[in-house]
Amino acid sequence: MWGIIATWRMAVEGITKASEMLKNGGNAGDAIEVAVKEVEDFPYYKSVGYGGLPNEEMEVELDAAYMDGDTLDIGAVAAIKDFANPISIARRLSQESVNNLLVGEGAEKFAHRHGFERKNMLTDRAKIHYHNRVKEVQETEIKPYAGHDTVGMVCLDSAGKMTAATSTSGLFMKKKGRVGDSPISGSGFYVDSEVGGASATGLGEDVMKGCVSYEIVRLMKEGMHPQQACETAVNLFDKTLRERRGKAGDMSLIAMNNKGEWGVATNIEGFSFSVATEGQEPIVYLTKNVDGKCIHEVASQEWLDEYMRTRTAPLVEK
Ligand code: ASP
Repeated sequence: MWGIIATWRMAVEGITKASEMLKNGGNAGDAIEVAVKEVEDFPYYKSVGYGGLPNEEMEVELDAAYMDGDTLDIGAVAAIKDFANPISIARRLSQESVNNLLVGEGAEKFAHRHGFERKNMLTDRAKIHYHNRVKEVQETEIKPYAGHDTVGMVCLDSAGKMTAATSTSGLFMKKKGRVGDSPISGSGFYVDSEVGGASATGLGEDVMKGCVSYEIVRLMKEGMHPQQACETAVNLFDKTLRERRGKAGDMSLIAMNNKGEWGVATNIEGFSFSVATEGQEPIVYLTKNVDGKCIHEVASQEWLDEYMRTRTAPLVEK
């Protein structure tokens, strides 16, 4: 059995490429890297890689992580600028014996030394979003912290190896140096080939408070199906946050176990995810939480068309 599951509709092209590799006996490390790179390279996804939205100072600072579920090796970069594929740098860092999570300038030096492709990741389109947001904030005082989405994936290959990966530009208008959950083990991702893996998207500051990816893997280890593990962890932690803090940030989690069974849970409206397995061609689902149960519906062609149309529609500076 092989499979790959990812947060959001934006991952479907990537997991399609990965599923071709997995079908042909490809390994979960290569497949997940190819899948994440596909999202990083697409300029119209404004929360991952090239075209990602900038921080308060109009710089695109990116976070990414890679984990190998066999060896439990982890590599991650945070607040890295001007490199095309943070996921590849994270994967390379997972092979080091120490210095596995590098931030800012240190991450950039490592990437430069190892010959990773440099690229100015700030697109003209992202600049327009930035200028518009600055104006909106001045005029209407809306919170700058809207607008984010991480690609997070879990992959299983036919040899039984599992991997997890994340990549994100984090929160739009974040402070320089702000790091979310995505490069943090146990929060943005976790995988153990003997059990399964999970990955998160949402408000990093809240996801980190519950180490929610690790919690899902822990529940699967106790015997829960990935769907039950995701719902249990997300519902419970959402409740905890509301009780203890009066509110809970957005939180959406995907998971897969080492049999290729998967699960998804969210506390927001309109969370989409992409999945492909040996028995299932790449497909996009929309999910909603109805009284604690997450119901997944196949995305309609109309929804898919509208998604691409809005992502690529011409953008005008206000
Ligand atoms: N979790 C990401 C972060 O806080 C953002 C997101 O997934 O939407 O950096």
